[in-house]
Amino acid sequence: MPRIENDIKLDFKDVLLRPKRSTLKSRSDVDLVRTFLFRNSGRSYSGIPIIAANMDTVGTFQMACALRQFTLFTAIHKHYSVDEWKEFAEKHPDCLESVAVSSGSSSDDLERLCAILSAVPQLQYICLDVANGYSEHFVHFVKDVRQKYPTHTIMAGNVVTGEMVEELILAGADIIKVGIGPGSVCTTRKKTGVGYPQLSAVIECADAAHGLGGHIISDGGCTCPGDVSKAFGAGADFVMLGGMLAGHTESGGEIIEKGGRKYKLFYGMSSDTAMRKHAGGVAEYRASEGKTVEVLYKGDVAETVRDVLGGVRSTCTYVGAGKLKELSRRTTFIRVTQQLNTVYGD
Ligand code: 5GP
Repeated sequence: MPRIENDIKLDFKDVLLRPKRSTLKSRSDVDLVRTFLFRNSGRSYSGIPIIAANMDTVGTFQMACALRQFTLFTAIHKHYSVDEWKEFAEKHPDCLESVAVSSGSSSDDLERLCAILSAVPQLQYICLDVANGYSEHFVHFVKDVRQKYPTHTIMAGNVVTGEMVEELILAGADIIKVGIGPGSVCTTRKKTGVGYPQLSAVIECADAAHGLGGHIISDGGCTCPGDVSKAFGAGADFVMLGGMLAGHTESGGEIIEKGGRKYKLFYGMSSDTAMRKHAGGVAEYRASEGKTVEVLYKGDVAETVRDVLGGVRSTCTYVGAGKLKELSRRTTFIRVTQQLNTVYGD
């Protein structure tokens, strides 16, 4: 007989942060930089822990250069060639400390990963990304990569439950990517019926990871700066953004003009568009499909970043957190039935 868990699991939209008495005078008093020491690599990180997703249209070299100005991080998508990596490393050596090289778990992926890491030995971060982080094969893969690269910081996912977070940390990962199905261009829930509300996934996975000295990334589902704050409030060490960083000058792809307006294409990494683009080149994709959408062109990403950081700083002042580090300790979520007044639209 199937089991039903009756505990209610929540998404970002189901909660708001309760304001708290505070001595902070202004948002500019808030420090968003965090410093982490990673459990398995032994390396440390310092920066504002927001990561551009390793999607074609978001995790680009141009994005990495732009985000670096704000000390944000970029998971570079896995479709750049070794030569392109070499050129990037030559031109922008300063950016290398805030990027990760991504890889799936196939043998072709591993070969490419190793080639990039030997061509660009300054790289410190590896992002091992599969749609379903629950397979035994993936756990073995993480172990293999850890053995080959004992001092690289390894991000791995995606999963949504504590026991799998623990297993991947024990297999050698430092930072676990959390999120199945919340993404803006993801159709996993529709195609498979599988998923986990993102806020609850983050709360539970952060608890599991922190118990072992590991870290997590809340990956997917942020639609506005308030969601980013909620993810940090829930215990995420890092927050990964796809859609919120799509449609900018630094995002991949051409500008499309239609009816006097400008758009950019944004698509899931297992969408038809991604499959067609990389067909033949890569053996393994995310198992489920993704959507392809045209998003309004939003100009340079710096403006959006300022907006997001301003929002998170403001959250911190509302709850009395002088540092981002204190946000989750100062967080009380209240369940709501409505979070926005949509009378004039969203
Ligand atoms: P967003 O910030 O746009 O809500 O979510 C970004 C995340 O969606 C990515 O980091 C990745 O985990 C996930 N994602 C990207 N492409 C696909 C896809 O084609 N299918 C699925 N299931 N998830 C995707």
